[in-house]
Amino acid sequence: MKSIIKDFQVKVVELELKKSWKISLYEQKTRPHCIVKIITEDGLVGYGEAAPSPAFMGETGYTMELAINKYLGPSIIGENIFNIDNIHDKLDTAIYGNYAAKSAIDIALYDLMGKTLNVPVYKLLGGKYRDKIELSWVVGMQDLKGSIEEAKERLAEGYKVIKIKVGISPERDIELLSKVREELGYGFPIRLDANQGYDYRTALTTFKKLEEFHLESIEQPVKRNDIKGLRMLRERLDTPIMADEAISNFHEVVNVVNNDACDIANIKVGKVGGLSQAKKIANYLEANGLHATAGSNLEVGLGAAASLHFVASSKYVDIPNDLYLGNILHKNDIIKNKFELVNGCLTVPEGPGLGVEINDDIFD
Ligand SMILES: [Mg+2]
Repeated sequence: MKSIIKDFQVKVVELELKKSWKISLYEQKTRPHCIVKIITEDGLVGYGEAAPSPAFMGETGYTMELAINKYLGPSIIGENIFNIDNIHDKLDTAIYGNYAAKSAIDIALYDLMGKTLNVPVYKLLGGKYRDKIELSWVVGMQDLKGSIEEAKERLAEGYKVIKIKVGISPERDIELLSKVREELGYGFPIRLDANQGYDYRTALTTFKKLEEFHLESIEQPVKRNDIKGLRMLRERLDTPIMADEAISNFHEVVNVVNNDACDIANIKVGKVGGLSQAKKIANYLEANGLHATAGSNLEVGLGAAASLHFVASSKYVDIPNDLYLGNILHKNDIIKNKFELVNGCLTVPEGPGLGVEINDDIFD
């Protein structure tokens, strides 16, 4: 096989959510996901997905479609799918940033590499480190009763961590946490994600109070560029601090780590530029003794599959992951396969490439 990229196609798929999704940054009911198809001269086809996150990545399915059709896709025609660093050079030269769009392409290339060699993607990423991939469930912003009901339901399904979206009002956060612990007890870890909702001073006073409810970690409490605020919170709070929006690519991770500004990193495959970049970040964190989790931008089937291959193969990505979230929150998926949830864990698909089958009619 020559494994040369011959053509590509992009499709934006509007996926409806079962109920409104609200975090401190935005509220959505429908989400435009970007699906990429890459075809080789040998006739093999690989697929990738990136989900929209306009408020913190500046990208939606439609901007990704434009970036890929005009700049990224044409820049890699004629390249060998296995020359992944070389391909990322071409992508970065074609257009700066646009990491979600680049993620969709990178994931499609790994799907192709796996299909070419007839192996699952995790074997291209270092092989299997773990069989069971532990999950966390994310409770979006809603009324108190709904939040408690949802947390209760997901705990019964075996989810290992309940992550709760906070960051709009300190009073709301304190009331919510107090009620959740009162109703559901202290027998499970709680992660709080403020999605940059507070300034340093508000974050410090709010989370100091919230720590009495026993927190597993505090995710992105301050603005993405406030690395100093992140570091000062890490110094003044007992709970581990997780960086998410502050680390949207490999170089930002290096900067945050060099500034001692986080204890844990949220590596989203669809945020950082795809599987190759996620692996670089995971290796860098491991070298610095830092652990990670694989978060979600509410990707559906292809994105979740890519994250499963990443977590299965990455030793220090050992903190329960949000990666199986978009699949459940949306009304429809783009793949035919169903992931089997067993006691809050998933296993990595074993078929060639990503190991999932896309619905054929998406590109019609
Ligand atoms: Mg987050």
